[in-house]
Parts: sequence; structure tokens; C-alpha cells
Amino acid sequence: MTALFPFDNSYARLPDRFFARVAPTPVEAPRLVRLNRALAVDLGLDPERLESPEGVSVLAGQGVPTGAEPLAAAYAGHQFGQFVPQLGDGRAILLGEVVGRDGRRRDIQLKGSGPTPFSRRGDGRAALGPVLREYLVSEAMHALGIPTTRALAAVATGERVIRETVLPGAVLTRVASSHIRVGSFQFFSARGDVEGLRMLADHAIARHDPAAAEAENPYRALLEAVVRRQAELVARWLTVGFIHGVMNTDNMSIAGETIDYGPCAFLDTYDPATAFSSIDRHGRYAYGNQPRIALWNLTRLAEALLPLLSDDETRAVAEAEAALTGFAGLFEDAYHSGLNRKLGLATTRDGDTVLAGDLLKTMAENEADFTLTFRRLAAAVPDLGSDPEPEAIEAVRSLFIDPTAYDRWAERWRRRLADEPGDAAAQRTLMRAVNPAFIPRNHQVEAMIEAAVERQDFAPFETLLSVLARPYDDQPDFARYAEAPEGGGRGYRTFCGT
Ligand code: AMP
Ligand code: MG
Ligand code: MG
Repeated sequence: MTALFPFDNSYARLPDRFFARVAPTPVEAPRLVRLNRALAVDLGLDPERLESPEGVSVLAGQGVPTGAEPLAAAYAGHQFGQFVPQLGDGRAILLGEVVGRDGRRRDIQLKGSGPTPFSRRGDGRAALGPVLREYLVSEAMHALGIPTTRALAAVATGERVIRETVLPGAVLTRVASSHIRVGSFQFFSARGDVEGLRMLADHAIARHDPAAAEAENPYRALLEAVVRRQAELVARWLTVGFIHGVMNTDNMSIAGETIDYGPCAFLDTYDPATAFSSIDRHGRYAYGNQPRIALWNLTRLAEALLPLLSDDETRAVAEAEAALTGFAGLFEDAYHSGLNRKLGLATTRDGDTVLAGDLLKTMAENEADFTLTFRRLAAAVPDLGSDPEPEAIEAVRSLFIDPTAYDRWAERWRRRLADEPGDAAAQRTLMRAVNPAFIPRNHQVEAMIEAAVERQDFAPFETLLSVLARPYDDQPDFARYAEAPEGGGRGYRTFCGT
């Protein structure tokens, strides 16, 4: 019989000091909550078999499947600005890697699968609520078109985990292009282990940036590629109102995927100072701070890479600085072209940045819902020579405390739209393809978790998952999932996903 997972494990071939070999700890009564069948097929796996007792037992960590070389990766990281020389997978175990039908190599990792040598005081487990949240939000991000780790499965363990209260436990199977983080490089840098650093960098280049191997300075090319991916990723986050919530350097992926869905949340009312996480008291990881933090983290990566950038220290610093200097332009380009598309503008003109910035400012001053404003804006695009539908205009302007503030802005926007080559229909289509109707609204996610945890009712999870799989389609039967919460979601708090 063929293996359940056709593993080919490149990370496990790195030296022993990169990880601890450790198997998942079996659980009491595993029960499959959900398998992502479409993802399984993309990965070249057999969904029937994954849903069978054999598959569920692997997804629960009951045993080590054929070909797996389970390990907990070592990494370090800056947590809220403080350097911790050793973190590592404290509750995650990499089973191995598979090469999918698209030829892409992906990690198959169990999260919540028991203690590892990096667990410190933690129990190595995950609670069902945060597992469902990560499953749902990461799949929603994927459907929005934003690079992210994926969720292959969620399994309830039948065990209790002790947090502030006693909660049901679960294991998530996470799929990622890799789990190499900024903190992975910091781990070797902090130990002065230049050989380890070089091996990790070569591994990352082989996996994510094979072209960098041909560059004059491959490590600078790697750094530039990571800078570019992060600049584009954070720009994408901003254009959908996503707040990661815990952008520590150990939670920043070299592959440029959104990773570690702990206290993440989406904006309801637009306010760039929004920080939902209960542990982010100073707003370090607030919505509008994310580009700055990304650059701060990338600067930590550049520092870690210094010994590889040149044998000459001054030269190495110059290489690092040159790569980091690129961030601002890459971010601004991605962000502003993203905002232009959100406004239905396929071309770029002087003044566009100010136009978009003024809308955001007006939204903030008038406590307008971020997602609803942009989605409804599409219907407010006027046909050439005629006025837009009054209901469509009212639907947008009513989102603003002072609707006339919107009117003043909209007049400028319509004048700018008139310069665009496409017709109104094309503009509306463009806007509807980038302005989602459905995002994982915090109040909906909380209600879904409550139903699952308190009442073992997984129907809201399934419904929300299916609605969020098509975020850009109007789904009239599910209109309530598009609604903003009472009071604009102010005062909402998230807790570090445990
Ligand atoms: P995070 O804030 O989720 O990025 O996690 C920071 C560190 O804490 C990582 O090294 C995690 O592996 C570890 N960690 C988080 N929760 C647990 C847990 N329940 N048991 C063991 N380690 C944990
Ligand atoms: Mg983490
Ligand atoms: Mg986490």
C-alpha cells in the first residue's frame, strides 16, 4: 500500500542542531472536525483515506505515518521588541514535506500535537476555539487571494486543555511553503553559528528563491526577495483591513505567507490605530503600524544575515542597507496600486494617493465600516453622462456619521473616474473583484467558536467557511454575514491564540 503522505523531507536532512526529533503525543478520543478536501487533492493526497480511521489517527498525532520524520524546529525571535534566543516549535511538529500536483513543496505540520523540548512551561496543546479560528481565517485569507499558510484538517482530541478556563482540545494540520521564519535566522546568528546560518540560507534559497543562487550575491538576493514578499504581503493585509496582531520576528515567514493566526482580527470601523490584541497594550502591532513593524523585523533579518552578506563588515552593512532601502518603495507601490484598484482606477495619475488617503481619513473621522464602504462604492460608480442610482449612493454615504463629508469626497472621485479608459461596467467589475463583500467578521467568528465549544454545534463553522470561500461574490442568502457589528466592533479584544 502506498504511503498516506508521499513525504520528501528536506528540512530533516539539515544538521541536528536545527531541530529536535520528537513524535506527536497520542490523544484520547480523536474525532475529525473537518478535512479540507480541495487542499488535500491539490497536495496530491487522497481525501477518502485522510477521512478514514487511518488518516484521522495520523491527523490527531496517534502515530508516525510512513515516511514522516517528525521534528520540532528551533528558532529564536523578538517578541514585542524583546529578543528571546530560544523559542522553537513548542506545540507544533513538522511531519514532513510533500510536493503537490503544482510541483510546489509544502510542509505538513501538526499544531497542538503535544510537548516538545521547546515547550518551556506550555502544554504543547491547542484549544478547539483557536484551531477553528485559524482554520477559518487562514482559508478566508487564501480565498481573498492573500499568501497564507493553509489548513488541511482540524481534529478534536477528546481531551481538555487548561487555559483561563477548561476548554476542549484540538489539533490543526497546517500546510505552509515552509516554516522558516526571521527568527530561524536569528537562532543561528545569536549563537555565532555562521555555518548553520549559511546552511539555513542555502536551504531557504533552494526552496523559495532558486534564482538567487545565480545572483552575484545570493544572500543579498535572498534578503531582497524576502523584503519584496513582506512589502507586498503587508500591503495586501492593509487593503482588506487585516491586523495580524502578533508580528514578532518568529511569526514572520521567509516565504512571505501570513502565518500564526493568534490574536488576528479584521477592522470593522476604519481606524488605523486599531489594535485588538489584549497583550498589545501599546499598539505596537496596530493596523497602521504594520508596514513599519515589517521593516523593523526585516532589519533584524538583515542583521542576522550580515556575516553572509560580505566578509568585509562595512561592505556587509552596505549590502543590508541597500536591500532594506527597497522596502518603502515596494510597499508604497503595492499599497497604492491596491487602493487604486479598490477605487476602480486601472491607471495611475498624480493625486491618486491623496484621493485615496482623503477617503480613508474621512472614513476614520466618520467611523465608516472599512469593508462595507469599499464594497458599496462599486455600485456608486456612475454610468457615463448619467447620475448613479440614488439608492447606491445612499448605501455608501449612510455609513458616514456626516454623509456630506462622503459627498464632498465622492465628487472628486467621480471626476477622476471620468478620466479612466474603461466604462462604468468595467470599473464596477474591477472593484468587485478586489473589494470583498465577506471577511471573517470578528463577531461572526466569535459566535462560530461559541457554538462549537459550548454546544458542539459545527454548523456555523461550516456555513461561515463556505461563505468565506467566495468573498467577492454577492451571496444574497448569506447577507447577514456581510453586516458590520453593532457599534462598529469597538472594544473587541482578542487573546493570544492558545
Ligand atoms: P506564538 O506567540 O504563538 O508565536 O508562540 C510563541 C512561542 O510559544 C512559540 O515558541 C510557541 O511554540 C510557544 N507556545 C505557544 N503556546 C504553547 C503551548 N500551549 N505549549 C507549548 N509552547 C507554546
Ligand atoms: Mg508563533
Ligand atoms: Mg501562535
